[in-house]
Amino acid sequence: MAGRRSVTEAQLIDGKAIAAEVRATVAQRVAALKASDNLTPGLAVVLVGEDPASQIYVRNKGKQTVAAGMQSFELKLPAETSQDDLLIRVAALNADPAVHGILVQMPLPGHLDENAVVNAIHPDKDVDGLHPVNAGRLSLGEDGLAPCTPQGCMILLDRAGATLEGATAVVIGRSKLVGKPMAQLLLGANATVTMAHSRTRYLADVCRSADVLVAAVGRPEMVRGDWIKPGATVIDVGMNRLDPPYGGKAKLVGDVAFDEAAGVARAITPVPGGVGPMTIACLLSNTVTAACRQAGIAVPSV
Ligand code: NAP
Repeated sequence: MAGRRSVTEAQLIDGKAIAAEVRATVAQRVAALKASDNLTPGLAVVLVGEDPASQIYVRNKGKQTVAAGMQSFELKLPAETSQDDLLIRVAALNADPAVHGILVQMPLPGHLDENAVVNAIHPDKDVDGLHPVNAGRLSLGEDGLAPCTPQGCMILLDRAGATLEGATAVVIGRSKLVGKPMAQLLLGANATVTMAHSRTRYLADVCRSADVLVAAVGRPEMVRGDWIKPGATVIDVGMNRLDPPYGGKAKLVGDVAFDEAAGVARAITPVPGGVGPMTIACLLSNTVTAACRQAGIAVPSV
């Protein structure tokens, strides 16, 4: 839950603890589905090639899927897998009734067309929320599967007690994975939303108008303390690895200069331990949602 740091007046939004709560809720829902409907949600993760970071992500996803009581299917394919072969594998997962969610780990090796692969996943099994049908449903305010990281940010905002209705929200970044769906979710919660990006003029001034500021840029500590409106809630999605100049352990920093911002904001996420842990928790939650919809069962809320 939220805690305090001595360097700051801001409430620290503890993503690690909140993600653990979400995973525990998901595990309860899974146990209830097994008991009441004999339904075990299943998540398939496809990994092509041997990218070390992707291997770690896939392993963590598998572990957490099993820990939540769900079935985990891991499909590891060689880096030289052809586009046709990969599409055949995705089609088989689409047709498999034990698989309710499919995630293809990105990035794919350069010879593969990522958009074509995402588009081949059945929208009802697209637990990453990246299929155009799900992006469309989100923008129309219809039930679909929303991308996991922005969903996690919405849960953090809720747990931090941020008022969204009527609030001015600024999202920096317009990627299809984070920025765009984040803006749609905030709009759906009745915030007044501005989406900023690399061509935005007077970005610091735009940010200073925000009651809720979400940074999803990928530029270490770009958002300074004097960009923050006093009392704002700040969600830092950025994960930037800084290698020290003379060797030693790399440091992970966000897109927000934490110490500066924490002196001005009402509440803020740390990096690491803020948004990061929420992504897999929301992937598990999306898998339960997908399984319920496919079985015609009411979807429990997390
Ligand atoms: P992305 O696809 O590279 O998008 C970055 C966005 O930032 C783009 O829209 C870009 O604008 C904008 N931008 C770049 N430089 C800017 C500047 N100087 N001023 C304003 N906007 C600028 O990145 P992403 O996938 O959305 O990820 C963003 C960050 O979040 C990365 O650090 C990533 O590692 C992190 N991330 C974390 C999680 C998690 O689980 N915690 C998940 C996903 C991503 P243009 O569109 O104009 O180029």
